[in-house]
Amino acid sequence: MKNKSLLIISAFILVISFISGSIIFSQPNKTEMAKRVSSNMSTLDKPIKKTEVSEVSLAAVGDLLIHKEVYNDAKTSSGYDFDPMFQEVSPHLSNADITFANSESILGGSAIGVSTYPSFNTPFELGDTLKTNGIDIVSMSNNHTLDRGVMAIENAINQWDLLGIKKVGSYLSSEGRDTITTIRKNDITFSFLAYTYGTNGIPTPDGKPYLVNRMDKDQIASDIKRASSKSDVVVMSLHFGKEYERFPSDDQKEWAAYASEQGADIILGHHPHVLQPPEWIQNSDGSQSLVFYSLGNFLSGQEEKYRRIGGIAGVTVQKVQGLRGTSISIKEPRFKLTYVDFKNDQDFKITPVKEFNEEMFQELSKHMKTSIHDLSVN
Ligand SMILES: [Zn+2]
Repeated sequence: MKNKSLLIISAFILVISFISGSIIFSQPNKTEMAKRVSSNMSTLDKPIKKTEVSEVSLAAVGDLLIHKEVYNDAKTSSGYDFDPMFQEVSPHLSNADITFANSESILGGSAIGVSTYPSFNTPFELGDTLKTNGIDIVSMSNNHTLDRGVMAIENAINQWDLLGIKKVGSYLSSEGRDTITTIRKNDITFSFLAYTYGTNGIPTPDGKPYLVNRMDKDQIASDIKRASSKSDVVVMSLHFGKEYERFPSDDQKEWAAYASEQGADIILGHHPHVLQPPEWIQNSDGSQSLVFYSLGNFLSGQEEKYRRIGGIAGVTVQKVQGLRGTSISIKEPRFKLTYVDFKNDQDFKITPVKEFNEEMFQELSKHMKTSIHDLSVN
């Protein structure tokens, strides 16, 4: 959303707004933040007679890290079934218009052999369960992307395609990598980008840089520029931070501020395997971006208390198209806390913390509200 013509149009809109005695951006309050003027120029070309308001709810979950304890528990006589693990959280995933997940252990399928840490490979059946639960898009860019080589990446990409689930951050060609992934709902277009800090020391195969998107400032800036020209909202997935740290590092804050300043509207962070409190980032153009630094583990075999906790981040995006142009607001950030319950490496299920343990809920609720004090936590 940062180009010269946009600036000129933005300036024009501001002048007109002041003349008419009202400004398109109301002063942001704590839960509803004013956003950048949309780059959707077409709305200015054909005047709109009345104000049109549309909204989309976006949900996101963190790491799906399918350790052997998890896939062994899902084993059936004919394959795997992860559905029972998602049963209690299913409605909360399906309710959102668009739901994102971090597919950390690659969906390479059992034909090449399922495997666990440190070199993961996950059965296709997890994809079936994600489809059933309303997941629309996954990030494939993380430190385990290259665990099982090119074959696993090809299998995963083909399987996501077969399921009709979009994927970002890992591609099979330069062309694929350069095509911005978008989802349009209720007249609002979202673009998705995804990057990782690294791949556990595994080098990208020669001549195939598109296999995994690494965090690179110039690349991020140019991708955001292209994404902004094709969408109303830029959602960026960042696999970053220090494992098991419950607060964002200075490095995470720097990357998030950079991406936000370049035009990322919503940042979905993951990798630390524990929850980190979200925050609003103030941009120099007066807009604010929302960053979830770490969404925690949504499903994994990790046992430690905080590594069992994750959740479903939520936000409402509102688009207002009127005589004075188009504005986008990021509203009502929220978080539903979840816990991976299991005993003796069996009966894995993702359960809402609120119903599971009130004391834990109070503690985590306070943690998540560290920066956004009126964050809605349930
Ligand atoms: Zn990771």
